Amino acid sequence: METRERRALAACNLCEAICGLELTIREGPDGAEVTSVRGNAEDPLSRGHICPKGVALADVYSDPDRLRRPVRRVGEGADAEWVEISWDEALDRTADGLAAAINTHGRDALGIYLGNPNAHSLGAQTHGVRMLKSFRTRNKFSATSVDQLPHQYVAWQLYGHQLLIPIADLDRTSYFLVFGANPMASNGSLMTVPDFPGRLRELRARGGRMVVFDPRRTETAKAADEHHFVRPATDAAVLLSMLHVLFEEDLTDPPPYVRGTESVRLAVADFTPEHAATVSGVPAEVIRRTTRDFAAADGAAAYGRMGLSTQGFGSICQWAIQCLNLLTGNFDREGGVLFTEPAVDIVGKTIVGRGHHDAWRSRVRGLPEFGGELPVSTLREEIQTPGEGQIRAMLTVAGNPVLSTPDGRRLGEALDGLDFMAAVDIYLNETTRHADVVLPPTTALERDQYDLVFHALAVRNTARYTRAVFEPAAGAMHDWEIFREIALRTSARLQQRKPLRKRLMDRAALTVSPTTLITSLLALGRRTSMRALRAQPEGIDLGPLRPTMPGRLQTRDRLIHLAPDRVVADLARLRRTLDEQAAAPEGDELLLIGRRHQRDNNSWMHNSPRLTKGKPRHHLLMHPEDLASRGLVDGEPVQVVSRVGKVTTEVRATEDMMPGVVSLPHGYGHQLEGVRLTHATTVAGVSVNDLTDPERLDVSGNAALNGVPVRVSGA
Ligand code: SF4
Repeated sequence: METRERRALAACNLCEAICGLELTIREGPDGAEVTSVRGNAEDPLSRGHICPKGVALADVYSDPDRLRRPVRRVGEGADAEWVEISWDEALDRTADGLAAAINTHGRDALGIYLGNPNAHSLGAQTHGVRMLKSFRTRNKFSATSVDQLPHQYVAWQLYGHQLLIPIADLDRTSYFLVFGANPMASNGSLMTVPDFPGRLRELRARGGRMVVFDPRRTETAKAADEHHFVRPATDAAVLLSMLHVLFEEDLTDPPPYVRGTESVRLAVADFTPEHAATVSGVPAEVIRRTTRDFAAADGAAAYGRMGLSTQGFGSICQWAIQCLNLLTGNFDREGGVLFTEPAVDIVGKTIVGRGHHDAWRSRVRGLPEFGGELPVSTLREEIQTPGEGQIRAMLTVAGNPVLSTPDGRRLGEALDGLDFMAAVDIYLNETTRHADVVLPPTTALERDQYDLVFHALAVRNTARYTRAVFEPAAGAMHDWEIFREIALRTSARLQQRKPLRKRLMDRAALTVSPTTLITSLLALGRRTSMRALRAQPEGIDLGPLRPTMPGRLQTRDRLIHLAPDRVVADLARLRRTLDEQAAAPEGDELLLIGRRHQRDNNSWMHNSPRLTKGKPRHHLLMHPEDLASRGLVDGEPVQVVSRVGKVTTEVRATEDMMPGVVSLPHGYGHQLEGVRLTHATTVAGVSVNDLTDPERLDVSGNAALNGVPVRVSGA
């Protein structure tokens, strides 16, 4: 075979920005390799943007450490051996293990954990969810309750659907207010905004401003017109006091379909800027000025993300962000925040359920479910606490909760006590190494892709369908095929089986390919078609966001009730907590927050040499005054101790940290004894989640990963 080059378009699935990529592929007698990865300038949403992770997408395809065949664990811990087995054996072992737990102990004996990459795979969206439902267990967990549940919890209460989330109209706004988010590094989250740096330059060029509140001077804070430090987990006080100012200065202008404005006024009556200043460190005059500027801007959008959601009052924060946009008339307005109109309307057609709350509770701690999932902070105790409903078998899909959920180290120990565990994953990692069987699906470049979720959260309405760049290797399976087989084979082994008709319907639904399903859903939406998308693989532009209210609302009465009981009732807990903090004597405690880097991708991609080279970035960041007062030295090892654990890592002095606050990156702490790897995967660093506390939760059930009290001393 002669060597030849070809060009192919692909979609990056590593983060929510869903950038369009243009690949050059060299094919020859020794196989195919990607020789270049560029941003696709023709993509109507990402406009040629690419970040270092996008280039590394090709590394995943060629990674020698990636599993290409199913494996079975023989032995334990550091002595474990991983033996390749056939797909038939892997699927049968999985079905045997899951069915045995259900048949012996009941449906809730099976626990499921879905990791973040599930949202980025078409097959996981179309077939993973169906597999999940087929098990009918109440012990479902996912990355949602690690970092985004408050958004969904608030959207469900205000707008009637958990994924009907207003998106900042970044391409037209004149004032972008950011709390606890770092889109310069992330390119947006629950706001798909590829090329955020370019879009920020455009905002500036049209005279707009960006103002950032964050306990760390992040990349976004450095690019902002103004940055203000805010003490972790006190953003709620600042945001509520902004609402207070709106009422006090008669700056409210809510749309006619909003009810409960007076209840909000009463709820925030004693949250003054002066009170917020004492607890948050943000001067009262900054709060007042920012509120006035926001209300006066010709199109303003408030946005809060990770830092707001991963704290004890995440839902109050996300509610207050919505109130800010709604009360100032910036909701459903060009330049403000608007709902998207995706070609496949996962909200309007209820392809994703609206959400529900407290239909059942977790067995041990009695925590309510949301949308059919329990808070992942309860997972360890549900595995380790004996009794009826105890989890005896686990299935994890593209997740690494040992590194990404609170008190992960103990969760890892708990996984060892299971009767059986299977993982659908392309890597052996800190979580999957506890599995009995690991089933690796094809990777992004080997499968067709349509982003069901992220088109629905993007700053512009577009649609894109990309074909697989490479044929899957002989014998490889796509994720949706694995889900189909696990669901059908497990079902066939259950003593209590569904009626024949239902089983036939399940089989038929699981057998249709994702592409066939998307073709039908596009036809249902009538905004574009599969034929059009195939003819234009760079994507189709469906136009800017536009007003859709009140028709797009999913509430029963087509109204927004602005003061939902569940959130307003939590204000008393907020007030009590802030009062207790104010009364507590000054000690040597610091507050720990997480951070994300552009060259990291949650708990994976650490074995791409392309991403891990360069200056180490695992350090504990700390203000120089905090080092000096403890006699610590920049660069030296320190011990960090929280209620649940301790870690030792190097400290780095930086004035980018608010005094009294320290930061560790999310997703570090790889410990892979027992796993043979080719690359230098011993990336330094510790897991921040060996310090985070599963007892600290938002009212939605989201883990409060930020604002963890810690003590730091010389190691
Ligand atoms: S910003 Fe980077 S990681 Fe995210 S989709 Fe674009 S190229 Fe991929």
